[in-house]
Amino acid sequence: MQLFKPLETGKGEDKSGVSTTEKVKCLIIGSGPAGYTAAIYAARANLKPVLYTGLQQGGQLIITTDIENFPGYPEGVSGAEMMEDLRKQAERFGTDIRLGIATSSDFSVRPHKVVFDNSVEIVAETVIIATGATARYLGIPAEKKYAGMGVSACATCDGFFYRGKDVAVVGGGDTACEEASYLAGLCSKVYMIVRRDVLRASKPMQHRVKNAHNIEILWECQLEDLFGTNGVEGAVIVRHKGTPGEEKFNLKIDGLFLAVGHTPNSEIFKPWIETDETGYIITEPGSTRTRVPGVFAAGDIMDSVYRQAVTAAGSGCKAAIDAESYLAELI
Ligand code: FAD
Ligand code: NAP
Repeated sequence: MQLFKPLETGKGEDKSGVSTTEKVKCLIIGSGPAGYTAAIYAARANLKPVLYTGLQQGGQLIITTDIENFPGYPEGVSGAEMMEDLRKQAERFGTDIRLGIATSSDFSVRPHKVVFDNSVEIVAETVIIATGATARYLGIPAEKKYAGMGVSACATCDGFFYRGKDVAVVGGGDTACEEASYLAGLCSKVYMIVRRDVLRASKPMQHRVKNAHNIEILWECQLEDLFGTNGVEGAVIVRHKGTPGEEKFNLKIDGLFLAVGHTPNSEIFKPWIETDETGYIITEPGSTRTRVPGVFAAGDIMDSVYRQAVTAAGSGCKAAIDAESYLAELI
């Protein structure tokens, strides 16, 4: 019985290679704050959740240093530590946590089907999608050419290699400011390459970078290219691009950090689930319900506005409660 016609994208179900099938009551996809919180609530409600972590166990926060705005940690907490706490809490109530990446989905029939690693098919009465978002790149050839040779999208992962050196961060959001502040503690000089004349970041973040002695903001500038023989030695920057006052200059740097936002990880669900033009999953206002009954979305994947750990955790809680209500109505 076909309950839902696929949306017009032509992708989604590919059952070639499926070797095992397993039935579960509640499937959670993603191990960020949304996924783990959904797991805590679902496990306590006896939904016996199975959670697949994806490639980034712990989600986006594992690449950050101090989290100072998550309630309950008066002294702040490292991203890795907080996500480890959440994982343990989800496990404590019986969540079955597994490594694996969702590679295709079929929400045309109930129960719904999701295939992991192209081989394990999970047939689930309820699905909570909490796949978050992935760091974006600028799309210039130099990023690929110097990948691992001076270009990074994670200051806390790679900043150590640039101690005492000069680096640049591209972007003007919270991530860019956080990366710049972190690098300022390690590097001699940090440039922020900002395409507008304002920062998108929150006021406290702006305050932090503007008051750091070794951070210089290059306003209305864009990265055009990188150069260097055995790694990045400098960047070609364009100021006031596309205007009569356009000027180009070289900036001597040893490393470049990208912090230009994130893309929601919704591709494999798009044949069934409605998304906006950027790929964020659309849910019913005030709930985590998607257009497919029994499929819920939580966290950054359905939130293009707030995108915070605490809001992701909050919607993970809502998704588990929505899943529980859905199952109760079926009885
Ligand atoms: P994510 O944390 O993005 O987790 C998504 C999960 O889905 C991951 O586990 C991934 O492996 C998994 N996944 C993806 N695709 C698949 C797939 N196909 N199959 C299976 N699993 C999959 N917010 C704050 O409130 N405070 C902060 O201080 C803060 N600092 C930040 C610092 C940085 C550098 C960044 C990038 C973000 C920061 N944020 C902060 C934002 C915060 O990290 C996010 O709002 C939050 O992590 C979103 O949680 P989530 O659970 O929705 O998704
Ligand atoms: P973001 O808010 O989307 O900011 C992306 C930045 O990159 C913007 O300044 C944008 O410029 C710039 N940009 C995008 N494409 C570009 C391009 N092609 N060339 C040059 N610049 C480009 O993303 P984010 O900073 O990763 O933050 C994501 C979410 O996580 C936000 O909700 C944020 O609040 C949250 N977060 C919170 C914290 C915290 O609370 N401590 C830390 C990190 C992240 P424009 O401004 O011109 O568009």
